[in-house]
This record gives sequence, C-alpha cells and structure tokens, in this order.
Amino acid sequence: MTAALNAGRRRAELEALTDVDVLVIGGGITGVGTALDAATRGLRVALVEARDLAFGTSRWSSKLVHGGLRYLASGRVGVARESAVERHILMTRTAPHLIRAVPQVVPLLPSVKHRALIRAGFIAGDALRATARTPASLLPRARRVDAAPTRALTPAVSANGLDGGLVAHDGQLVDDARLVVTIARTAAENGAIVLTRVKASDVTGTSATLTDTITGESRTVRAKAVVNATGVWAGEVDASIRLRPSRGTHLVFDAATFGHPRGALTVPVPGSIGRFVFALPQQLGRVVLGLTDEDAPGPVPDEPKPTDGEIDFLLATINTALDEPVTRADVRGAFAGLRPLIESGGDTADLSRRHAVLESPQGVITVVGGKLTTYRRMAEDAVDAAIRLRGLTAAPCRTRDVPLIGAGGPSTSGLPLSLVARHGGAARAVIDAATVANPLDAIAEGIDVTRAEVEFAVTHEGALDVDDVLHRRTRIGLVPADADRARAAVEEILGS
Ligand SMILES: Cc1cc2nc3c(=O)[nH]c(=O)nc-3n(C[C@H](O)[C@H](O)[C@H](O)COP(=O)(O)OP(=O)(O)OC[C@H]3O[C@@H](n4cnc5c(N)ncnc54)[C@H](O)[C@@H]3O)c2cc1C
Repeated sequence: MTAALNAGRRRAELEALTDVDVLVIGGGITGVGTALDAATRGLRVALVEARDLAFGTSRWSSKLVHGGLRYLASGRVGVARESAVERHILMTRTAPHLIRAVPQVVPLLPSVKHRALIRAGFIAGDALRATARTPASLLPRARRVDAAPTRALTPAVSANGLDGGLVAHDGQLVDDARLVVTIARTAAENGAIVLTRVKASDVTGTSATLTDTITGESRTVRAKAVVNATGVWAGEVDASIRLRPSRGTHLVFDAATFGHPRGALTVPVPGSIGRFVFALPQQLGRVVLGLTDEDAPGPVPDEPKPTDGEIDFLLATINTALDEPVTRADVRGAFAGLRPLIESGGDTADLSRRHAVLESPQGVITVVGGKLTTYRRMAEDAVDAAIRLRGLTAAPCRTRDVPLIGAGGPSTSGLPLSLVARHGGAARAVIDAATVANPLDAIAEGIDVTRAEVEFAVTHEGALDVDDVLHRRTRIGLVPADADRARAAVEEILGS
C-alpha cells in the first residue's frame, strides 16, 4: 500500500467503504495510533476524522515527549514508568527523526525556592530514564551548571543574583501535528483507510453513520469493533463517557525576544511546589511559553481560546526570571487546548493523567485520557480490548518495532535542516515528488517552510485546503501574521 493520502484516494476509499474489522473514530494522536496498531496486526481498519488530522487537542500540546517526572512527584509510579518507556521507544526506534533532546534549565535565582526538591526531582527523572534503558548519550544526565552555561542555554535569564542552574533533558517533538500526520501515513502504508472530513454519528458497537462533510452524503458502515478516540468530544459520540476537560494555554514569541535560547527556561510558579512555567525553543524561529491548567466545563468549542487571566499569569511568572520583562506587545500568537481528563472529582491538576479503555452498554470501545507520549500504549490497549471483546483474530501488537515514515531513508545531506527536522529520512522524497517551481524556496520571506512541503502536504499528507496546510501540516498559522503572509503562495500552489 502507498502512504500517499490525498483527495483522490479519499474519494475512492470512502465510496468503496461498507464494512471493516475496526472502525476508529477520531484523527488525533489516539485515533491514528489505534489505526496503525490495528492495521499492523492484519485487521481491516478505517479511521474517520470529522475535520482534519490533528484538528483537536493533539495540535495544542507543549510538544514534549515526557519522561513522566511530574507523575512521579505525585506518587503515580506506574504512569511515570509507562511514559519513560514510551519515550524510549519513540526516541530510539519509532520516531527518532521527529524528536530531539531539549535541555530544561531551572535558573538558581534568589526568587527560586525549594531547590533541594527540584534537584531531587531531576535525579528521580534520571532514574526513570535509566529504568527505561534510555542511554545518557541520548538524554544527558541531570546536572548543576554555573551561571555562564545557564545564560548560554537561556540568554534572557536575569544575571542578577544568578547562582547557576539545574539542567535536565527531556524529549521534544519538532511538532505534535506532524507526529499525527506521520502516524496516519504509516497506518495508510500498512493498509488502513484514513478519511478526513467524515463525521461519525449514531455510533453503536457494530456500526456508525458516516457523513462526508464536503458533499453532505451519508452512509452506514458496519464494523466488528468500533473504537471511539475522539478525545474531549468522546461524550458526544458515546453518552456514557463523562469527561472533565482542563484548558492549557501557550503564548508564541519570536526566539529573539528570549535571545535565541537553546534550552527551555523553566521557572517555578511562585507559591506552588512542583509547578513550572517554561519558555521552550521551537521550530520556525519561535519560543513557546506555557502552561496553564484551568477547569474548562461546558460545551466543547472547536478551537478553545486563551483567557486574559491565563496570558497575564504566564507573563508574570516568566518575568520573575527576566531582567527585561516580556509584555503583551511581544506576543505573536496564543493557543489553548483541552486535556481530555476522565471525571473523578477533585482539582483538574490532580485528575488522573492515565488513559482508560471503557466499553459502553452499546458496545462502543472508548480510549481516552493519557497523552501524546503514551499514544502507542493507549492504542495497544484499545486494540487488545477490541480483539478480546469482539473475538477478533489478529496478530499480537507490533508497534514497538514499526518505524514511522522517515525514521530511515536515503541521505538527506544538502537538504534544508528544517525540512529534514520535519520529515527525517523522507525529506528527499518530498523534494523528488515536487512539481512546483522553485521547490526549495521558502513559502514566504523569513518563513522556514519550503514550497515543496506545501505541495507534498496536498499530494501525500491528506491536506484538503489552505487551512489544513497552514494550521496542521505546517504550523505557520501559530503566528496569525505569518499565516497572512504565506496564504497567497499556499493558495497558488493548491491552485485555489
Ligand atoms: C495544553 C496541553 C498541553 C499538552 N502537552 C503535552 C505534552 O507536551 N506531551 C504529551 O505527551 N501530551 C501533552 N498533552 C496531552 C495530549 O495533547 C493529549 O492527551 C492528546 O493530544 C489527546 O489526543 P486525542 O487523539 O485523544 O484527542 P484529539 O487530538 O482531540 O483528537 C480527537 C479527534 O476526534 C475528532 N472527532 C470528534 N468527534 C468526531 C466525530 N463525531 N466523528 C469523527 N471525528 C470526530 C476531532 O475532530 C479530533 O480531531 C497536552 C495537552 C494539552 C491540552
């Protein structure tokens, strides 16, 4: 099977779709992971996504591949270990091309309290890494450094009273939506049908009505098992699911505002223990500042919005560590996402981050909670449940050893580094497939995305319109002014 997703394939596969072994609803990280897991066990699988791949929470994350340290802090050893193991699989086997080690730097400023505790946490993080057998050559050991290296990693940090820094490493994705698209394409390569702009309704344990949101046409599809992987929307698909979403907000800056850091400036939230705000260097010359955790009851919006209070909180907290305060005038973009937390009472920050696989009285199998880092394990558990509950015949889970597209491939020497960071060993295929003029040129002045990537998004990555390209296949849209500048060139390549 080819990995190319595009409008033609979508039309043909939707037209022919009548019944499958597993129907997966939702094209976020959990859904695409489940489709890959099922397809690589030899099951016939179709995934339907109402809008676009990575339309929901999966594109609003901090883009970290966590070792689970924060779960350890609250005594949830099992969740912490699971995170560390999944991080290891991603960074060593399945997606090393999309993840790098990022230094997280806690500056030892007079305002930073509980230093012994932070240090102990970092050492525990090292122990987690070692238990998962991730070598220190990949994720260097935690250490204390002097003021000069602290400032070299995070140049904007205040020099006033700076007594060095505590440094620990974690995994960082080049982009969360790229991970989703890469998994979806790997699933397609293994035989999965992946359909965007197809909404599921009237969902039962063995069927669903699928509506093509482009043509408005509906059809009923039968399945031996139906997996609901719709994140914060899970309760809309299956009324027996009760979630308690929590909103997390990030702000986007030019990297220059933070002095082009190589590390993530990680600042304790005053008055709390174990909570931090971080300014994380990202692709496209940006720094992203996060993160909040706010109860978000009520109807689930398509795109959650940051509140003024959250923006003020993030700026005020990071400014405790800066000589030159950052202000709203420096903010180039802002985004918020909803964590699909399972309702269990208490504060949202305390709600279990572990995933759950639940079967409704109707027989719908819901997989929800968890995080990007643990998607593979979530998918394995969901497909195991589908096989057990429906008596399906399938091979054991293989995804620990299935490299995602781009994890290997021909030499990328001579290609733009940013292209290679997003496509890994598949970068040359992006250029080879290009028919646009000047494929290696930037899509717009100062925006580090090539014209070839924009074309590839449509011919191979299932982008159906300009917004799919600007907001999901690339992340140009995280800065609205950049999206405005790139739009005309993207439209020209799409011929729209
Ligand atoms: C602010 C924030 C920061 C985070 N940071 C990290 C991090 O750094 N590292 C980490 O590991 N995790 C992180 N997480 C957690 C992680 O992002 C989420 O757990 C994960 O993305 C959830 O993915 P999902 O596929 O379950 O849901 P989603 O990504 O929301 O996907 C659900 C999909 O279902 C589709 N859908 C809904 N209804 C239907 C229907 N009826 N028919 C068809 N499709 C439908 C939606 O359009 C959507 O695309 C963070 C979460 C938040 C909110």
